[in-house]
Amino acid sequence: FDVPDEPIIPFIHGDGIGQDVAPAAQRVLGAAAEATGREIHWMRLYAGEAARERYNENLPADTLEALREFNVGIKGPLTTPVGAGFRSLNVALRKRLDLYTNVRPTFHIDGVPSPVSDPGAMDMVNFRENTEDVYAGIEWEAGTDEVEQVREFVEEEMEFDESIHEGAVGIGVKPITEFGTKRLVRKAIDYALAHDRDSVTLVHKGNIMKFTEGAFRDWGYEVAAEEYGDEVITEDTLWEDEDGDAPEDTLVVNDRIADNMLQQILTRTDNYDVLAMPNLNGDYLSDSAGAQIGGLGIAPGANIGDGRMVAEPVHGSAPKHAGKDKANPTALILSGRILFQEIGWDDAAQKVYDAVEATISSKQVTYDIHRQIEGGEKLATSEFADVIVD
Ligand code: NAD
Repeated sequence: FDVPDEPIIPFIHGDGIGQDVAPAAQRVLGAAAEATGREIHWMRLYAGEAARERYNENLPADTLEALREFNVGIKGPLTTPVGAGFRSLNVALRKRLDLYTNVRPTFHIDGVPSPVSDPGAMDMVNFRENTEDVYAGIEWEAGTDEVEQVREFVEEEMEFDESIHEGAVGIGVKPITEFGTKRLVRKAIDYALAHDRDSVTLVHKGNIMKFTEGAFRDWGYEVAAEEYGDEVITEDTLWEDEDGDAPEDTLVVNDRIADNMLQQILTRTDNYDVLAMPNLNGDYLSDSAGAQIGGLGIAPGANIGDGRMVAEPVHGSAPKHAGKDKANPTALILSGRILFQEIGWDDAAQKVYDAVEATISSKQVTYDIHRQIEGGEKLATSEFADVIVD
């Protein structure tokens, strides 16, 4: 992404703990920019609750227009009230801007407690498809005409017995397209090649869902085999090879079934590098991977399309902690670091990482990390940001 040295960067603070972590992240990112001879002009944008107050709508046209115009942006979490009549705003925003890749790096920061014995081995980048799968939101409530139309067919297929036959049925659709899969897998492979990674693993449930997740695997392999020449090799080709080792400087594309993958990231973490996944697998897997490296307060992410991105932490709005100046801003700060990397500000990105790591490893931490370590100092969100900036 090309941006000027003094860019305007749109920032949606977000709901719930967004009001706490956004100003903290803004200060840290602003300081890193300044320390590397740049200046960021933040443009405050509204979505969610703040937008309802100002614009009387959840996702105002002004917000979408600014994100389109400036190409890069950053956002805090947005609440999706259960049963409130609209689908997730986050999903809507990703779809409206066609931010089809959700990138979630999972790496361990020194000093962060972890439930696994060797968290340092965790260094994965998760590529989650962002616009398809069950997140397309195509589903029908029990009792609607649409359900009634297909109900008989569903009952026959599922061999329902009488008692179930009498009850309600809800129905959903899971679209996975060749186009959506291939552009996601391309992003994962391009990233892996650019960052000297060893492998890209397609994570799917194709053994059960053959025409959706199985197709995801097949289309993923097609991209690997047909579009990258000698730079990329698929695992089945390796098995045909005598010693089964990939030639040096070759990226290996392999695949794993999703449930197996969830246990392998706990037990054989260092075997995995870059993962490419349909939407739902990516959602589960990246939260779970986040737990290994200190929890949601730490886990960063970004939504990336072609020529456009919005950085965004993995966590949600955690309403019960909102407005208390206690939430951990690290996830949002490190999402900003991804933004810096994507706009070529590698020195500023490094400064952000070094300062966050130095602060956390000195045991000056927010409540979520503090309760998992011995000793140390429990800081408010704003105090934690002060230490990082210092
Ligand atoms: P959540 O991620 O908001 O919170 C789950 C728990 O994780 C919290 O109770 C808290 O203990 C911990 N946590 C999360 N972020 C933290 C932080 N920065 N510092 C310290 N602890 C943190 O998940 P939820 O409670 O399931 O969802 C709340 C709302 O957020 C829902 O409306 C949901 O739809 C929305 N959500 C939004 C996004 C997004 O904006 N991208 C992502 C996930 C959930």
